[in-house]
Amino acid sequence: MATSHRVLLTGANGYIAQHILAQLLEAGHSVRATARSQSKIDALKKTFAKYVDTPQLDFAVVPDITAPKAFDAALASDPPFDRVLHTASPFFIRPADSSVFLEPAIKGTTEILEGIVRVAPSVKRVVLTSSFAAVRTMTSEPIRNPPKIYTNEDWNKVTLEEAQASEDPNVTYSASKKFAEKAAWDFVKEGKGNFELVALCPPGVYGPIYDPSQFSKGKELNQSTWIIYHMFLRPGVKSTDPVPPTFLYVWVDVRDIARAHLLAMTVPEAAGKRFLTSAGDLSMQEMANYLREALPEKRDVIPIGEPEKTDKPEGWYGTEDPTVQSVLGLTYRSKEEAIKDLAPQLVGIAEREAASL
Ligand code: NDP
Repeated sequence: MATSHRVLLTGANGYIAQHILAQLLEAGHSVRATARSQSKIDALKKTFAKYVDTPQLDFAVVPDITAPKAFDAALASDPPFDRVLHTASPFFIRPADSSVFLEPAIKGTTEILEGIVRVAPSVKRVVLTSSFAAVRTMTSEPIRNPPKIYTNEDWNKVTLEEAQASEDPNVTYSASKKFAEKAAWDFVKEGKGNFELVALCPPGVYGPIYDPSQFSKGKELNQSTWIIYHMFLRPGVKSTDPVPPTFLYVWVDVRDIARAHLLAMTVPEAAGKRFLTSAGDLSMQEMANYLREALPEKRDVIPIGEPEKTDKPEGWYGTEDPTVQSVLGLTYRSKEEAIKDLAPQLVGIAEREAASL
């Protein structure tokens, strides 16, 4: 039987984190789940009712991850933690407010690392949910000859000064992920912690919501799911509306990035590594096609676009990281499965939203 770990999972109510939590519990690990408020924890308790009041699951409210010693109370545990998965970070790009990203991402990361040193020196490994946004400069030209292939060694070129002065939330979000991840690597390089670090850099994360009954309006969804809902299924959208251009082709299934977190916290060879966990290309037109196939009853709603035009333009960038498979041992689900498993959930949310208008 595999070793079971005592794990602190931050931002546990998030879209990705709920899948991580489910997989951790199913694998027999013991988890303390943190969220910003008791109401978010109460929602989690409903979803994970089977594990509530068992030694496998407990909770902590961390109201402000930027506060000094923010995580100290949450990190105190008996049995002590040996793993920390830090997913909590702002990723809500609508409505545009560029000022919300940098401080919680960077300070939230350094706070938890300092807390581990102070309160939980038993932690052997920390997994940080970074992003492809930390890898690619999102405002740079996507097309080149030859095309740019991003790897786990690339970093976006945004400076902290540019980000602080920018009113574009895409710029500040990217910078928040870059400087949070850099802060974590610097912490380890400077020998401040007695733990190993692993960083995961997912691109667009799509696929089913762990518990769609938590949602009754599109605006409650996380950024990446909201995009699909908003483009293709929100109340009022019509099949004759255009399919919007693809701004991010690279993607990964939410269940796979969750599994990547479990592998990152357990695979010995993953220590000290950064992984660009991308399953390849997925265009908006392909999303429309899969949604229309999965939901024939919504043929008057989901934009048709040009179903044959699914390829990305010549010269558009790509990604490559063979260590995801060779070191982590992660393989990817198909894009069709990701979108088709999400499709009926979004219909349910659109119906609840329409009923409330
Ligand atoms: P969610 O919005 O569902 O989850 C984000 C989590 O972070 C929530 O628990 C949220 O809490 C918490 N959080 C947000 N802002 C703050 C803040 N200021 N202080 C404390 N906690 C905060 O998004 P995802 O699940 O998609 O994202 C999880 C992680 O994955 C993030 O680090 C994100 O950058 C990263 N990521 C996501 C991608 C995607 O396509 N989804 C792609 C690449 C990386 P609350 O509910 O209270 O707001």
